[in-house]
Amino acid sequence: MKYLIAGNWKMNTRKDEAVRLAWDVAQHAGRTPHVDVMIAPPFVWLSPVADVIRDTPLFLGAQNVHWKEKGAFTGEIAAPMLRDLGCHYVIVGHSERRQYFGETNHQIHDKLVAIYQTDMIPILCVGETLEEREAGATLDVIGTQIREALTDVPVKEELVVAYEPVWAIGTGRAANPELAQEVHTFIRKVLKELIPPEVRVRILYGGSVKPDNIAGFIAMPDIEGALVGGASLKAEAFNAIVDAAEAASS
Ligand code: PEP
Repeated sequence: MKYLIAGNWKMNTRKDEAVRLAWDVAQHAGRTPHVDVMIAPPFVWLSPVADVIRDTPLFLGAQNVHWKEKGAFTGEIAAPMLRDLGCHYVIVGHSERRQYFGETNHQIHDKLVAIYQTDMIPILCVGETLEEREAGATLDVIGTQIREALTDVPVKEELVVAYEPVWAIGTGRAANPELAQEVHTFIRKVLKELIPPEVRVRILYGGSVKPDNIAGFIAMPDIEGALVGGASLKAEAFNAIVDAAEAASS
């Protein structure tokens, strides 16, 4: 198993910053061969970022995708367009998409189909809100998110799932690694019911991951990397997270 450290830049960076950050991360990724590293810049910077990371081991990802291949969907981006730009991964179902844009498990399902049809790999985000956790509904919520999103999706080769408790995203309040491990074990069990055994599955933790807490997460047996928001916007912090994963691998 190889850890995956994925950076979600969200709606941040101007063009010069994006290119510089991608360059710094790409150069560093060349020195950590035991870790897969991915960045997901805003759509508008995918092309210039693809140019600077060409011929490096850094993977390019998108933050979202539409489920249709093409058509009259003003403002949307289709999977084949992302593929043309060199995207390898696509983040789907991020809690900010669910919360602010009303994204449903049904739409996420259709996006997963579109991603696999285009030979890219999804990073499916799941996670409970604070109210759901306090009501003892965490596993029910996550089980439903996974089942509704993945049932009947023709999953090919690789699937990445990111467990991101909503209360830990951007709050500086990370889950503790033992709590995350418990949920990861559950996710793995649900995935076993849905995904053919030959598919490579990696389950990432996301939510206030920083250089000083990453080691605790990846020390857990079912945590195979991290989806990083805020700390992915500074090359030094993100590269330090990648270094911790490299150290844990060798
Ligand atoms: C995220 O948005 O996926 C995320 C994990 O953000 P942060 O690391 O800032 O909590």
